[in-house]
Amino acid sequence: MTSRQFEQVAIETVQGDITRQPDLDAIVNAANAQLRIGGGVAGAIHRAAGPGLEKECLPLGPIRPGQAVISGGHNLPNAHVIHCLGPVYGQDEPSDQLLASCYREALMLADRNGVTAIGFPAISTGVFGYPIEPAAQVALRTVCDTAPSLATVSRVRFVLFSESDLAVFDKVLKDR
Ligand code: ADP
Repeated sequence: MTSRQFEQVAIETVQGDITRQPDLDAIVNAANAQLRIGGGVAGAIHRAAGPGLEKECLPLGPIRPGQAVISGGHNLPNAHVIHCLGPVYGQDEPSDQLLASCYREALMLADRNGVTAIGFPAISTGVFGYPIEPAAQVALRTVCDTAPSLATVSRVRFVLFSESDLAVFDKVLKDR
């Protein structure tokens, strides 16, 4: 695990599964617009949370690229799930601004709900095709830029599924 402090916020990078982070009070879902179960991170989160999550989420959708909404964690060890719709790379433009909006909106929403520790997957880097290095640059820059406006959030963890994605996030974090 790599960890660096920006203002009052500690940013961490770990390899792992976003559904197995019991010390975080919120995790972020790379959701689809309808907030349905789906595949990738969304599938894993909905399977771990149980059917109550989709039931709560459906009336909150559809959401637009860059938008975030919050729900309970149901059977997850986390109190909240924040659902973001990332941009489809090369289709939802400007992709970098829409991706930045996901991270900023999720952090602001977490803060308004009193969250202290939040975990993000690498939004848009799976089925949505965003290349990992520019996605890591946007993610880390946005968290650093948003950190001064956060009141309750003091820990942000990037949970990367693969070793190679972790290496990219670590490098970008060290270079900041
Ligand atoms: P998107 O549609 O936003 O691209 P995906 O769910 O397809 O979202 O993938 C986003 C990223 O999350 C990918 O890098 C993928 O490898 C990773 N991922 C998939 N499952 C998990 C998981 N359980 N925990 C953390 N990251 C995951």
